[in-house]
Amino acid sequence: MKWKELLNILDCGKYMVQIKGSSKNYAPKIQCFTSNTPLRELYNYAEDQKYLFDSKRNKKNNRKYYASLIDRFDFVIEYYKFRKNEEKVCENKCYCCEVMRIFHHGFKEKFNNQEFEIEFNEDVSKKKAILIIEEKDELFFRKGKRFYWRPQINYDKFILSEHENFEKKKPI
Ligand SMILES: [Zn+2]
Repeated sequence: MKWKELLNILDCGKYMVQIKGSSKNYAPKIQCFTSNTPLRELYNYAEDQKYLFDSKRNKKNNRKYYASLIDRFDFVIEYYKFRKNEEKVCENKCYCCEVMRIFHHGFKEKFNNQEFEIEFNEDVSKKKAILIIEEKDELFFRKGKRFYWRPQINYDKFILSEHENFEKKKPI
C-alpha cells in the first residue's frame, strides 16, 4: 500500500473512496491490517535514511517517519509460532504448534479487555453519535470535546500465550 494512502485511511476526517461507481466517505469503526512483513520494515523510513535521491540524483528529504506511522495505531501485534520443546515449528498451517502474541505497541491488558474505544470527530453531536452506534446500550461517554464508544466485540479466544516486549531472536 502506498504510504500516503495508508496515512489517509488511518487518519480522522473525510476520505472519499470510489465504490461501485460512486464516491463514499470511508469511515470504519475498526481497522485491522495483516502483513507478513514487520511494520518497522515495511517502508524505507526517514529514521534509517534521512535523504532520498530521485532518478536524476536530486537529493530530497525522506518524509516517511516510522514514529508518525506507529502513533496512528492503537496496537501492533505479532503472531509468532513456537514450540516449547526443541522441535522445529511447522511451516504450514497446523494445530500442533503454539502461537505467541507479541505486543510491539499498545497494552495487552487493553487489548484483552477489549477496550477498543471509538473516537468520534469533534463535530459529531451526541444525537448523531447515538444514531451511528444504533442506540446500543454499551459504554458511551464524553471526554473533553469528543464522544467515545467502547463496543462489545466477540472475538476468537483461540490464543494460547502472549508476551509483551518479547525479544525474538533473529533467524540466522
Ligand atoms: Zn505445528
